[in-house]
Amino acid sequence: MAGRSESLSIGIDLGTTYSCVAVWQNNRIEVIPNEQGNRTTPSCVAFTETQRLIGDAAKNQVTRNPTNTIFDAKRLIGRRYADASVQSDMKVWPFKIVEGENGKPMIEVTYQGVTKQISAEETSSMVLTKMKETADTYLNHNVTSAVITVPAYFNDLQRQATKDAATVAGLKVLHLISEPTAAAIAYGLEHKSKDGGAIRHVVIFDLGGGTFDVSLVTVNEGKIEVKAVGGDTHLGGEDFDNRMVDYFVFEFNMKEKKDISMNPRALARLRVTCERAKRILSSTTFTPVEIDCLYDGVDFSGKITRAKFEELNMGFFNKCMEIVQMCLEDAKWEKEMVDEVVLVGGSTRIPKVQQMLQEFFEGKKLCKTINPDEAVAYGAAVLAAKISGQGDQMVQELTLSDVTPLSLGDYAPGDVMSVMIPKNTPIPVMRECIIGTLKDYQTNFEFKVYQGERSKATDNIHLGEFSLYNLPPAPRGVTKAKLRFEIDVNGLLEVSAEELTTGHKETIKITNGKRSLANEEIEKMLNDAEKFKVEDQNYHKKVEAYNDLEYYIYRMKRTVKDDSDRKRLKPEEMSKMDDLVEGAMVWLEIYKVAEVDVIAEKKKKLECVCNAIIGQCM
Ligand code: AMP
Repeated sequence: MAGRSESLSIGIDLGTTYSCVAVWQNNRIEVIPNEQGNRTTPSCVAFTETQRLIGDAAKNQVTRNPTNTIFDAKRLIGRRYADASVQSDMKVWPFKIVEGENGKPMIEVTYQGVTKQISAEETSSMVLTKMKETADTYLNHNVTSAVITVPAYFNDLQRQATKDAATVAGLKVLHLISEPTAAAIAYGLEHKSKDGGAIRHVVIFDLGGGTFDVSLVTVNEGKIEVKAVGGDTHLGGEDFDNRMVDYFVFEFNMKEKKDISMNPRALARLRVTCERAKRILSSTTFTPVEIDCLYDGVDFSGKITRAKFEELNMGFFNKCMEIVQMCLEDAKWEKEMVDEVVLVGGSTRIPKVQQMLQEFFEGKKLCKTINPDEAVAYGAAVLAAKISGQGDQMVQELTLSDVTPLSLGDYAPGDVMSVMIPKNTPIPVMRECIIGTLKDYQTNFEFKVYQGERSKATDNIHLGEFSLYNLPPAPRGVTKAKLRFEIDVNGLLEVSAEELTTGHKETIKITNGKRSLANEEIEKMLNDAEKFKVEDQNYHKKVEAYNDLEYYIYRMKRTVKDDSDRKRLKPEEMSKMDDLVEGAMVWLEIYKVAEVDVIAEKKKKLECVCNAIIGQCM
């Protein structure tokens, strides 16, 4: 690949259903189209008998290969197999989830006839690789660093897992930025260029395919300050699709007395049709839903109105409004203070969502001037340009201040969540506290780190734990340790403790402990990624060799046909050529999965014989 003198960094919106990549180039942000010309790429990975597919190619074959086509991996990232959300998603996904080591959920697929287990990080890394390659091709440049977006409400485990996925994809993460914050950058730049950037109180309402985030942001002269965030990492368009799928599964059962709920292929076809119907309902009030031969040779013919769709999903829509209300309360903002409500994410196209939001803000007009599918990648690319010293003055003048979405603390006696860093604290941040032994001659301190808002520590998300051993024996309270919580600009946490009493210092961090992938796991995934890459390349070479031979056979066929008028070939030569061409066609059918050199060798031999015949007479 031709090198460039300067190194370009990209912004990637790694979405649950779609991903988008953008770059600062030619004095502006460019959203990069993929090889199909699409500006967003499905976050979808598929495995077949012969190859691995990522993006549009994977999504396009989902109904034929539902059990080996992975989507929604972001809903699994940083979660445990036993989590309620994983257990409920498993019921509607056509692919299989099994429990891996340390309770990690693993996706089981068949690839080239072999059963394989893939983690959510690995799947995300494949999507990131695809986005990187899209950028590499567009820029004719090997991109090695990126700003990657995560839902504002992602916890520490989910953020760390996303960072690991980027490492496996060969990308250095310049910054992990919250999706609504990235959208706020896009809004902020547009706003500044339009009216000079007077201070504005902005609500970013981001409802995508799998997650919902709301961020309250002040935008002032290119200074973007997040005041509070709220959200649900498991609420989005996919849930609305699932509700419609359930509705039609029930209807089909009632009408036809046939249960399709255990048939992955029928479910996958129904889901694709429902997603389409949902989009149609954003612009019409009624749509038919028809699928030929859905199950057991029976066609499905149904219909859904916008009102029914809204009724099915009203619980989700209400939840979004409750989260907005809570977020305003957290920031101590009155509704009247809000200058602008900015819509981000594909699901904000749903008219009912817009109507409820507008009513919530007492008739305020919603801001739809920024592209809901691209704003997040746009903002990420602006930040990437700023960090890597590119971009114009407006980009370089941009300043950003984000907050931590969830409280962080440690376990105190009685299962109490002792909060060290409350939610909505600006980051980066460092907090310390001194703790003493609770018993006489206590010889170790145990620290258990949690994230969440519940007052019982164990009701929150358990991030990790560690101990300080060999404390000097002393009466209760004499031996002391300093506990330190530190969150970096990416929202990633590092916890350490240091025993102070005797000056003996020991610092233990949990960054590379249980909660993130161990280095060996990353190493293994990197090796696997390389293996996949080599296999993909081999497959493409095979396809090229196949096409090459097929093209040659057709050329020879045409040569023989053309010659029937010109009569330059003798009848026996014509018949020999016919036999050769027919024989080669049969060979190709039988050996279509043969190795490259076998196919190439076949073509060479065929060429040799054909040239001998044609050469004699032409
Ligand atoms: P995002 O994660 O922002 O890419 O949003 C993707 C989600 O938006 C998917 O669930 C889509 O089905 C949904 N979506 C896209 N366009 C529409 C539309 N016109 N009406 C309703 N939902 C939509």
